[in-house]
Amino acid sequence: MTVQGLNKSHCSVKGMDTEPCVHQPVYFGVINININERTIGSVDVWRCGACKKRFCEEKQLGIESISDIVGMPDIEHDKKWGVLISKLQKGKDRWSLVKMPESGTIKHERIDEEIVDISVENYQVVEEGYWSFLVDEHVNEAVEI
Ligand SMILES: [Zn+2]
Repeated sequence: MTVQGLNKSHCSVKGMDTEPCVHQPVYFGVINININERTIGSVDVWRCGACKKRFCEEKQLGIESISDIVGMPDIEHDKKWGVLISKLQKGKDRWSLVKMPESGTIKHERIDEEIVDISVENYQVVEEGYWSFLVDEHVNEAVEI
């Protein structure tokens, strides 16, 4: 892949956005999402070499997507990448990549297309019928959902 913005490497590591980083994401790892030991999808994890910010991309098995920095999904510095699991759903509908606040709610579109609020505390989903994990804690692992 090509890397843009190499001419500027000044970064704020404090996350105060005082000096915006021109991110230089490099491939960091992958999390395989498994059901019954079969991989049904994955989360690609990229990390900025300068400010260490993570960028994640959800990949459903069989759906090709091409990574490039222009489309690299960004995240607010007060949130963490996570995976939300809907216990009652099966297959690709069972999981989705989310941006987890320390506490509050995340919006989730159910398979009936209704948007629901899901409560989050300490970067973990606390809602009946759901569970979650943080991407950072499972890089280069397979997670059985
Ligand atoms: Zn950066």
